[in-house]
Amino acid sequence: MQPASIEQATNVPLAQLTTMRIGGPAAHFIEAMSEANLVEAVTQADQRGEPVLLIAGGSNLVISDAGFAGLTVHIATRGIDIKPASDSADTLVRAAAGENWDRLVAQLVSDGYSGIEALSGIPGSVGATPVQNVGAYGSEVARIIDSVEVYDRTTRLRLTMSAQDCGFGYRTSVFKQQPNRWLILAVTFKLAQRAESVAIRYAELAETLGIAPGDATKPIQVRRAVLNIRRRKGMVLDIDDHDCWSAGSFFTNPIVDVTLSDALPEEAPRWPTEDGRVKLSAAWLIEQAGFSRGWALSVNAPASLSTKHALAITNRGRATAADVLELARAVTTGVRDKFGITLHAEPSLIGCAL
Ligand SMILES: Cc1cc2nc3c(=O)[nH]c(=O)nc-3n(C[C@H](O)[C@H](O)[C@H](O)COP(=O)(O)OP(=O)(O)OC[C@H]3O[C@@H](n4cnc5c(N)ncnc54)[C@H](O)[C@@H]3O)c2cc1C
Repeated sequence: MQPASIEQATNVPLAQLTTMRIGGPAAHFIEAMSEANLVEAVTQADQRGEPVLLIAGGSNLVISDAGFAGLTVHIATRGIDIKPASDSADTLVRAAAGENWDRLVAQLVSDGYSGIEALSGIPGSVGATPVQNVGAYGSEVARIIDSVEVYDRTTRLRLTMSAQDCGFGYRTSVFKQQPNRWLILAVTFKLAQRAESVAIRYAELAETLGIAPGDATKPIQVRRAVLNIRRRKGMVLDIDDHDCWSAGSFFTNPIVDVTLSDALPEEAPRWPTEDGRVKLSAAWLIEQAGFSRGWALSVNAPASLSTKHALAITNRGRATAADVLELARAVTTGVRDKFGITLHAEPSLIGCAL
């Protein structure tokens, strides 16, 4: 069946589609409400040789002030399907890429599923969760992904990838590594209905819950505690709070060799990684390099670090992408000068660079 023809608009402001509320216009813009329209729009642009920007919740994007010269496709597909797994007592939850992530988490936690609760409150869409393997409070989405349905723009084939095929790592995946190749259409999660959450290893979360690290509690309690902690840090969306006009953490936690880690003060937070290196806290490095919460390049500057979390760069109301990037560069330079460590941006930078 041919998809219904898709209406294309021109010169559409993109800032309002991002949580940072920055970025210029899209030369061409389509809202894809169905999977068929989504694939059709991207295929046609690829055939024309027109660059494509995929945008869903806009919560991990920094779009340049010049905007995007090609076709921007806003992913607005819907549909959730829940069925028993054929090979176990688990449940398979398939959600279309455009579904809202936290609405799905809220529904599944309230339906008694366990394993997804610590990922509460992350803004954006279901389809973007595999892109950077979203994670928080000791959980990563890779742990509960069964498969990802994709359209491969190089072969023009639709396929289903197992979690192993997705190359998940800390804030990365094949989708992040090859952004112009994969269009994620739907994600299937494998979950079980259980009275207990997964073990809570993240110290701050365990403390908030009043349990020992490694213990478990009810998934709904974990969701509530995570949302409370996130609110305190400006990490849930609230239109009235400029600390949330961000892309969440602006920098990933750097992973460095042991020698570099050993050169840091003893109190620097560090976590060993499986490949023998060490993950450091970007927030700690930023604060120790002299950039405290709320830091800005000047008084009343339009962009500043969040007043609640040094890792988030925020738009105080009239910031441009240039303002955000200038601040980000000041922070990376400061951290490099003090510690010799290069911070990398977590959000996708569109038409701009650090
Ligand atoms: C306040 C706040 C808190 C946050 N907290 C966290 C956190 O705790 N942990 C965390 O990991 N992240 C966090 N983030 C970042 C962000 O919410 C996640 O990365 C989220 O998954 C992005 O979803 P989105 O739909 O908004 O993606 P978008 O911003 O629309 O897109 C992000 C990237 O994914 C691509 N993309 C989107 N959809 C698809 C698709 N269907 N197929 C292929 N590519 C696609 C886009 O082209 C872009 O490169 C936070 C952001 C904010 C603003």
